[in-house]
Amino acid sequence: MKIKISETKIIQKMARVILSSIFLLSLTVCVNAQTGAKYKDARQSIEVRVNDLVKRMTLEEKILQLNQYTFGVNNNPNNIGIEIKSVPPGIGSLIFFSADPVLRNTIQQKAIDSSRLGIPVLFGFDVIHGFRTIYPISIAQACSWNPELVTENCKVAARETVLSGVDWTFSPMIDVARDPRWGRVSEGYGEDPYANAVFGVATVKGYQGKNLSDPYSIAACLKHYVGYGMSEGGRDYRYSDVSAQSLWETYLPPYEACIKAGAATIMSGFNDISGVPATANYYTLTNILKQQWKFDGFVVSDWNAVNQLISQGVAKDRKEAGLKAFMAGIEMDMKDGIYLEYLKQLFDEKKIPIAKIDDAVARILRIKFRLGLFDHPYTDIVNEQQRYLQPESKILAARLAEESMVLLKNEKNSLPFSSSIKTIALIGPMAKDKDNILGSWSFNGKASDAESIYEGLQNEFKQNIKINYAKGCDFEGTDESGFDEAFAAASQSEVIVVCLGELKTWSGENASRSSIALPVIQEKLVTALKKTGKPLILVLSNGRPLELVRLEPLANAIVEIWQPGIAGGTPLAGILSGRINPSAKLAVTFPLTTGQIPTYYNMRQSARPLEGLYQDIPTEPLYWFGHGLSYTTFGYSAAKVTATSFKSSQKIVAEVTVSNTGKVNGKETVLWYISDPVSSISRPMKELKFFEKKEIDAGQSAVYKFEIDPTKDLSYTDATGKRILESGDFYIHVGNQKVKIELLE
Ligand code: BGC
Repeated sequence: MKIKISETKIIQKMARVILSSIFLLSLTVCVNAQTGAKYKDARQSIEVRVNDLVKRMTLEEKILQLNQYTFGVNNNPNNIGIEIKSVPPGIGSLIFFSADPVLRNTIQQKAIDSSRLGIPVLFGFDVIHGFRTIYPISIAQACSWNPELVTENCKVAARETVLSGVDWTFSPMIDVARDPRWGRVSEGYGEDPYANAVFGVATVKGYQGKNLSDPYSIAACLKHYVGYGMSEGGRDYRYSDVSAQSLWETYLPPYEACIKAGAATIMSGFNDISGVPATANYYTLTNILKQQWKFDGFVVSDWNAVNQLISQGVAKDRKEAGLKAFMAGIEMDMKDGIYLEYLKQLFDEKKIPIAKIDDAVARILRIKFRLGLFDHPYTDIVNEQQRYLQPESKILAARLAEESMVLLKNEKNSLPFSSSIKTIALIGPMAKDKDNILGSWSFNGKASDAESIYEGLQNEFKQNIKINYAKGCDFEGTDESGFDEAFAAASQSEVIVVCLGELKTWSGENASRSSIALPVIQEKLVTALKKTGKPLILVLSNGRPLELVRLEPLANAIVEIWQPGIAGGTPLAGILSGRINPSAKLAVTFPLTTGQIPTYYNMRQSARPLEGLYQDIPTEPLYWFGHGLSYTTFGYSAAKVTATSFKSSQKIVAEVTVSNTGKVNGKETVLWYISDPVSSISRPMKELKFFEKKEIDAGQSAVYKFEIDPTKDLSYTDATGKRILESGDFYIHVGNQKVKIELLE
């Protein structure tokens, strides 16, 4: 919560003592004498305050606002930078590698006291799936198909973030990703533009609340604008060949939706868009974002991305990189200090007009005003017990984990366990793990906060089921010495639960893999255990779709738990026992083998659908987008539409009744797709347009409706972003039904 200066004075005094040893801001105290200025007057509108302040600023002060420095020790291995010891007062923003609100307040006070105009610093940090209460990674969240629950978890993250001295998170990542070799698949919401849009909006809502100035709101940052998910060969930071058509129909829609929902800021990507780096791309950064979409917040470059324009081959030196990035529309330079070094020179050389600098500064100040930083620049000091891991926060994290775990296979109802089972063998490198299950962006997460699968099962089954544990092998390597112990544990048990997966460093940034299969040692372990002849349940914790071609035939059931966060083993144990009925469905396709990549459901039609198949493997993926099993069965009634022929000005409603025809209560997500078989630009085979998740008790039914607005749901964009609506036949796809509708001239 942002509070007034007097309330934090004592604590700040203490912190100042600590700070004197790690010297931060220039000590040139420059007590600002702007009392009575309009920008200081909270009764004025934000625009009046912004304009008033910009008018008072010198060029040097303006340029300082356009820079982001880091503060503290960065523990992200991809972004090792020199720890900055001296931060100039008046700096626009700091990435705050600390969770100490007292420290923040002290830095803030120095920034305010030492700068002529008393402009507060904006503190940013990567809070990707929770600050301390770590909840499931984004790809898992999307599999829940429960955006409201995602919003609730993001609210928790925002509160913990605010109370740790941070105003701004670099999240959500809404890069549509169709190549699971790219490690950052874990950070987004899968292969579908609409799903990325809905979950992106849900996340923005959770962080920003109703109003950015609310006590527990933080500013969101959409990233990585745009086309980063297209990284060639799944290799991070590499060239991406994004055609204008796919830019408009696949990569831009989630951004447009989140900008419309009020996202405060946006981050440029490391990638190219067909040769023009995203960080120097006037078309996407200015033309589309600011001129067409009227975005009035600011764009921050990704870590060192301005400097990287040199390695991307579009700038000869740092100065030219700065010029290109700034003129393209990057307002804030993250970390590489180029703007600080060269913007004044570029201005003096008349390469950068003052109006452009003023606009950039105004955008940054606008967000600071919207966050309420000028009026309440300090963080409320709350002790850690009240700040983090509140009981209700943990419940929300667990609920999201429950709803995001996907039951991929369940041969002969192997799950849930029958009540007669008295012994389980729990085997595998993930079984007692508490760290990797947190996922790759969990800086403040602690393994000690998490519950391992082993602990989850012990709590769930107590004395009723004996757990015979053996690790079996490590995540990688060739050591098979644990196989015998694992085999013995399996032989003494009625069912084997094998917990495999990825280290958290195998997905996320800079985590590309040439094969999405698990290391051979893990597959060998399963092969060895299968020889016991016992039913085998495979539990997978990973940050990307996996190649399961060899493992799937060995498993009676498979549960994909992703990286579930602190709830860890408890939701899984509930699924194994039957206390929880799994309800997740994949938001990303699992190819059968790595060689099938890219495989995604919304591909375009083939010229010869029955030919051009792989000669050596099936062409179908193992699990399509939307796949996910339940312990109950759902029957879909014949879908109805209010009209089968209609005009573009007319909305129609499609409806289906879903009945829970099984014996247990369950949640069903109905995914509504549209296809357009004949159009001027070939359309995807089908496109997700709407989804809804409802709980249906055993024996009960629920009605699901999808209102089709032709201008929105039946149109598509061309390569310039122009929307086209063509009359003719369309199909609605729901469950396994296809309903024909006709849009009249
Ligand atoms: C990543 C961003 C992240 C930034 C700041 C970059 O390397 O690509 O996603 O927000 O670092 O930590």
